[in-house]
Amino acid sequence: MSLTGKKALVTGASRGIGRAVALKLALEGADLIVTATSLERAQKTAEEVSRLGRRAIPFKVDVGVTSEVEALFQLVTSEFGSLDILVNNAGITRDGLLMRMKDEEWDAVIDVNLKGTFACTREAIKLMAKAKSGRVVNISSVVGEIGNAGQANYCASKAGMIGFTKAVAREYAKRNITVNAVAPGFIETDMTGVLSDSVRDELLKQIPVNRFGSPEDIANAVYFLVSDLGSYVTGHVLAVNGGMHM
Ligand code: NAD
Repeated sequence: MSLTGKKALVTGASRGIGRAVALKLALEGADLIVTATSLERAQKTAEEVSRLGRRAIPFKVDVGVTSEVEALFQLVTSEFGSLDILVNNAGITRDGLLMRMKDEEWDAVIDVNLKGTFACTREAIKLMAKAKSGRVVNISSVVGEIGNAGQANYCASKAGMIGFTKAVAREYAKRNITVNAVAPGFIETDMTGVLSDSVRDELLKQIPVNRFGSPEDIANAVYFLVSDLGSYVTGHVLAVNGGMHM
């Protein structure tokens, strides 16, 4: 197990991609703090991690609220004392055409997806810089690269995460901290479960491998970046999209 002894934090780990990432890292030996917007749901993933024989601490946090992120990192410091791996996975959508998009819909998405990534990374980097070692992976999206009608707020947040990833990668490379993004295509989770059959059929036509991805497809990419295998990769956007965007 290549992550034995590593301490990891995965945001939005109650379901979907975050849960799959948490379980993969645990399977490879990492101890984890798993967060969600509900303690009960974070606890469910933590129990699954514990069943794999790893330590798992559940925590309720809204990553869009800086004071809650600070409280989360007080827990990281008191329980772990250090942090090897941060996966910024928490994310939301508030879709709508631009003309009708409300300020609240814009702000909610930017606050969780982009500001949440900033706030968690800022706290994590303090610990990682001290240790002169660390791995940050930000879960962006293919639509942050190519755009998507009806998702101006979401696409802006995911494109913003890519710029943020590259800036922080340059800033901390000398401290032996890698910072990368994974850009998933369309993945089978609750987030895409709301799509109608006709939208799914249209999307499938754009995916050369002719299937949606699984949360495990993303977890494997994250694992590569946080393990020793990915030690010379930084500032990269790893596309895991079935060929949807090349
Ligand atoms: P999901 O809706 O199934 O899960 C989202 C997770 O984020 C949940 O655990 C939820 O509790 C958490 N979360 C939501 N708001 C939060 C907040 N304010 N603070 C902390 N946690 C919060 O979504 P998913 O499909 O598993 O997506 C995970 C990530 O991958 C997101 O960032 C999403 O944008 C991105 N992504 C998903 C797809 C896809 O097709 N599913 C594609 C590209 C990118």
